[in-house]
Amino acid sequence: MNSSEIRQKFLDFFASKKHHIVPSAPIVVKDDPTLMFTNAGMNQFKDYFLGNKPAPWPRVANTQKCLRVSGKHNDLEEVGYDTYHHTMFEMLGNWSFGDYFKKEALPWAWELLTDVYNLPKERMYVSVFGGDEKDGLPADEDAFKIWKKILGGEDRILFGSKKDNFWEMGDTGPCGPCSEIHIDLRSEEEVAKTPGKELVNNDHPQVVEIWNNVFMEFNRLADGSLVKLPAQHVDTGMGFERLCMAVQGKQSNYDTDVFQPMIQFVAEQAGVKYEDNEKTDIAIRVLSDHIRAIAFAIADGQLPSNNKAGYVIRRILRRAVRYAFTFLNFKKPFLYQMVPVLADQLAHIFPELKAQQAFVQRVIEEEELAFLRTLENGLKRLDSLNETFKGNQNRIDGKTAFELYDTFGFPADLTALIAKENGFSVDEEGFEIEMQAQKNRSRNAAQTEQGDWILVGDDVPTEFMGYDAISTEARIVKYRQVKTKNKTEYQIVLDRTPFYAESGGQVGDTGFLESDLSKVKVLDTKKENDLIIHITADLPLDMEVPVLARVDEERRRLIQKNHSATHLLHAALREVLGTHVAQKGSLVNDKLLRFDFSHFTKVTESQLRDIEAIANQHIRQSIPLDEKRNVPIAEAKQLGAMALFGEKYGEFVRVITFDKNYSVELCGGTHVPNTGEIGLLKIVSESSVAAGVRRIEAYTADQAQDYINNQLEQLESVKEALGAQTNLTAAIEKLLSENNSLRKQLEQFELKQLTTLKDTLLSKSQEIAGVKLIAEKVEVSSSNYLKKLAFDTRNAAGDNLCLILAAKIDNKPQLAVMLSDNLIAERNLNAVNLVKELAKEIKGGGGGQPFYATAGGKETSGLAAIPGKAAELVKSLLAK
Ligand code: ATP
Ligand code: MG
Repeated sequence: MNSSEIRQKFLDFFASKKHHIVPSAPIVVKDDPTLMFTNAGMNQFKDYFLGNKPAPWPRVANTQKCLRVSGKHNDLEEVGYDTYHHTMFEMLGNWSFGDYFKKEALPWAWELLTDVYNLPKERMYVSVFGGDEKDGLPADEDAFKIWKKILGGEDRILFGSKKDNFWEMGDTGPCGPCSEIHIDLRSEEEVAKTPGKELVNNDHPQVVEIWNNVFMEFNRLADGSLVKLPAQHVDTGMGFERLCMAVQGKQSNYDTDVFQPMIQFVAEQAGVKYEDNEKTDIAIRVLSDHIRAIAFAIADGQLPSNNKAGYVIRRILRRAVRYAFTFLNFKKPFLYQMVPVLADQLAHIFPELKAQQAFVQRVIEEEELAFLRTLENGLKRLDSLNETFKGNQNRIDGKTAFELYDTFGFPADLTALIAKENGFSVDEEGFEIEMQAQKNRSRNAAQTEQGDWILVGDDVPTEFMGYDAISTEARIVKYRQVKTKNKTEYQIVLDRTPFYAESGGQVGDTGFLESDLSKVKVLDTKKENDLIIHITADLPLDMEVPVLARVDEERRRLIQKNHSATHLLHAALREVLGTHVAQKGSLVNDKLLRFDFSHFTKVTESQLRDIEAIANQHIRQSIPLDEKRNVPIAEAKQLGAMALFGEKYGEFVRVITFDKNYSVELCGGTHVPNTGEIGLLKIVSESSVAAGVRRIEAYTADQAQDYINNQLEQLESVKEALGAQTNLTAAIEKLLSENNSLRKQLEQFELKQLTTLKDTLLSKSQEIAGVKLIAEKVEVSSSNYLKKLAFDTRNAAGDNLCLILAAKIDNKPQLAVMLSDNLIAERNLNAVNLVKELAKEIKGGGGGQPFYATAGGKETSGLAAIPGKAAELVKSLLAK
């Protein structure tokens, strides 16, 4: 059975058990501050478990793109070394939201594995939760009994600890006891030696967990305690790649058809054979795995960057480059070439990669180039350290290793590797100490303490009224306190609200929660999954009293104009630049709109004018807003609405249309009732934000008008300054050319002056012990002229000249000392020594060559004394 069939059979099986098949959520998480990437199939359903939102179907199943590289679930360091942990993997899952429970879930799992996939019954083991004292939870006897019946005995059932058999998404959130299914893939010989049961949950590469059935019953609170969820749910996750290994009778995930095309491609390009050498094998596995994480994260909108989720992706990419560079000898960007192999392989199930292949490749290649440069610089720095560390017991200290890591982005293990090749070691303990110190610094800076929700009324889902109303009466459902170093804030949830929570680029609303007793300012509105959270500095006086929730209307109106204008701009961009233009991010607030989009070259001035003109035409046409809520997604797509990659859409979506032939978008934001309200769109900048991503910033309405007036005012004052000319360009050009010819004249004049000055200097020469000494303060306008004067004078004077010049140039003191060559050899004079000594007078320093040296300084008042000092100095030197 090939992997596509294996995946399909899973979905078909659960469809036959009345499950609704849903698409994978994006791998990048947007609306959950507790999570950066999807780490399990259940993430997108968190709200259904918590009861924040009713589930649209009681049973669903899917395959979910997961990434386990940060937070509670982090397998990064295993990847490449073992054969069954990946960064990105597919998790097959089936869910019951308050519908069926253990006695259906477990027999179904068994039926699928044994009847559909024909996995050998005698090679499978199951585990159930053995209870936990601290949490006050008993062993899961129900699951035990069900398994005993299925398996016809208890010798292949194990009781497990909280670590293995109590599943939690993160430090807080839905959780519950779980029951894992493990499979023993060893040879008969091996099995005869050691019973499989002894190897379960023991990190054996051929006795691995394939499926976990979680029984969601609790919510873990911030204080560590558990509370019962409103209903009992089933949440299962089966590793797709591990399942393929089992079904295809392989010993490693990498030997299945999920990975083989990539493994072979990498090996071929590197000119090595897979399974020839341990080190290159690891590198090949690392590359074949990491490219999946990198490519899918970028396709879902997470560009590599210097912080948060972007930094995690950058680190994975760098880890891959490092293995490619060190073990496979790829000294030039290579990873990006792997993208087409992956995109083709998965096009039928995850089309987002194929659709953005060129863009994803471009981003990866740029990152690779940048990091390879860093690697080279790091190598040079290490080289230069060689000398330093030879005397130091051949050991690179922790501080230096950390500097390489921190400033040069040079990974610690690579430092160790290269050091080793050069006969050095690295103080790893010292490195760790530095690392820890930095972590503590950033932790202290960012620490927030978030309290648990305190319920005020019934814990009902919030009804969002903001599309139709700007204020509404509401009750407080719950609140919590959030403390950071400098401030304490409150988060308040209402039963209904007109406040739009920040999402899709549109900023959150501000406003007030008012009652007869108090008036609390809402500073911002944010989303946590589907929870709408009002952020305030204080709490209303009496939480039980209903409030009037009132949005700052003027601000909201400005935001709406910018949001609708963004849609018009997007459509215009696609019209002018082409349909490859896809939104890569946006910011819409009350001041401006910012739109990032994929496009490979600078947008020209004339293209920008066209884009602006098209958008403004649609503004002037006063097109009424056509808003459709709860449109089935398929129907929305038929209307021509474009789904953004990396955006999570439910089965029903909201469609915003301004002229069905112009702009149709899936959007949850708020909009103007009519494009005429936008008044005017003015693009104010176009720039690059990352490889293949351009950014446009624009103003609308009042801001656009202010901007234009401002520009016009500047123009007016320029005109005025020029004497009210009608043709400004001609006037400025005339001015510039006049300026040019004046500058030339001035130069000619100065050059003539220099000749006169030189003659004057020569006439002032005084003879001291056979030396022609000239020490004078002169007036020249630049250091270049000072230099020319010195050289000209020497040329004219011939041998025995000692020339010392002092000048004030651009309000700073400067010195120049010029000697005839014979004085250096015969009289032991040196221009550098002279200028250094004299520079003390002007509080400065200098240098140069024995025959010509210069100095600059801080104190112009010292210049006057230079001729006298110079004469004394030269006299005393010649007397020696
Ligand atoms: P393990 O102990 O092997 O790391 P886990 O307990 O972390 O697994 P779960 O969180 O229960 O796994 O995830 C459900 C299923 O997803 C597992 O049974 C396994 O098949 C698969 N899985 C988990 N982590 C990975 C990974 N890093 N790569 C591939 N598959 C994984
Ligand atoms: Mg794990």
